[in-house]
Amino acid sequence: MKVLVPVKRVIDANVKPRVKADGSGVELANVKMAMNPFDEIAVEEAIRLKEAGKAEEIVAVSIGPAQAQETLRTALAMGADRAILVKTEEMVEPLDVAKILKGVAEEEKPGLIILGKQAIDDDSNQTGQMLAALLGWAQGTFASKVEIEGETATVTREVDGGLQVVALKLPAVVTTDLRLNQPRYASLPNIMKAKKKPLGEKSPADYGVEVRARLKVLKTEEPAGRKAGVKVKDVAELVDKLKNEAGVL
Ligand code: AMP
Repeated sequence: MKVLVPVKRVIDANVKPRVKADGSGVELANVKMAMNPFDEIAVEEAIRLKEAGKAEEIVAVSIGPAQAQETLRTALAMGADRAILVKTEEMVEPLDVAKILKGVAEEEKPGLIILGKQAIDDDSNQTGQMLAALLGWAQGTFASKVEIEGETATVTREVDGGLQVVALKLPAVVTTDLRLNQPRYASLPNIMKAKKKPLGEKSPADYGVEVRARLKVLKTEEPAGRKAGVKVKDVAELVDKLKNEAGVL
């Protein structure tokens, strides 16, 4: 089975994003970028499936500018076998990402597509669900456990009420939650080896997709700073404040 793993280049999770001076968006110039953390979990899960003999090939795909090659190289250094860059300078919204990924899936014919549950830049949490709908495949979102047996993927999902187990007929789409696994670091020898792994280049037009903006950003602003907290001396004072100041009791 082939596993397709879409990986997005986003602002590094350890960097505090700054709003551009003109409020038109978030500053990306000279900011450290990295693979979306949920996508690292997706790559790790694909590698574990391969190590367990459940997958033969892992293909990483990223839609974005030329620099997204670095993100793909990271996926290759972690253990993906090959990568595809779908190059575009446009901001690609989830529906267009899903349409492009549908085209990639029709070409590559994977048995499983593992995406992150959300990209930490726009927090959309849409692409996996849209992709499954466009392909007409089963989906298991917010996965904290994935088991493959024959033609079935058993996915444990993190839902509001606790855990839900769903059995998906392959091919299927899975999106990762935080507790699925702990991604590995790429070792230096593997980073060197990744430079020799194949990295193909495509364009959205190759999949018949014309990227367009459906959303318009009106304004971006910093969230209001948090007010300092107060210390109370005992429970009675806490209850009094909750009742009489906050009005929540
Ligand atoms: P989102 O729906 O934007 O929150 O993204 C969910 C997941 O879709 C991400 O974790 C990635 O796996 C995938 N994805 C979103 N945008 C891209 C992109 N430009 N290139 C590759 N994968 C993407």
